[in-house]
Amino acid sequence: MGKKGNKGRGPSTKPEMFTRINFLYQAAHRVLLESPNNTGLVRFYAYTLRSIAMKNVLRLDPTIKRTLCKKCSMLLIPGVTATVRHRGHKQRHTVVTCLECNVSKRFVTSSTHTLWCEQEEAKTMPSNWGHPPGQCNRGTQQRNVQTNAANKKMQKNV
Ligand SMILES: [Zn+2]
Repeated sequence: MGKKGNKGRGPSTKPEMFTRINFLYQAAHRVLLESPNNTGLVRFYAYTLRSIAMKNVLRLDPTIKRTLCKKCSMLLIPGVTATVRHRGHKQRHTVVTCLECNVSKRFVTSSTHTLWCEQEEAKTMPSNWGHPPGQCNRGTQQRNVQTNAANKKMQKNV
């Protein structure tokens, strides 16, 4: 009755969510450094921060996202919980393999390849989208605009 807020629906732009994600990421690192055998707690922190980001439709920065295992939510630290290999002749890439579940991630490392958030197109986005140019961890409003456009198309088709 008369409650305000988005009630869990739609994206949230609350800055405290980024603070919480940051805290959980740092806590996961600290736990892994203090007690490397306590992987359950590390995975719990990482899983929680990923679920916060997903529920609030927040985009994680690639530097954070690349250090989390997609399958088991383990923090991927080279030599501790992950192996890193550089491979490829035609297209140079890095393969990061999780030591917990053996799932590997592959990242292109060629000198010509740039992430979308580092490209000029991303830097020239309108400033009214709510985040400074060049930062891609706050692309919620962009996604919001895209989903709104998709919803309008769906409504026209119905
Ligand atoms: Zn894993």
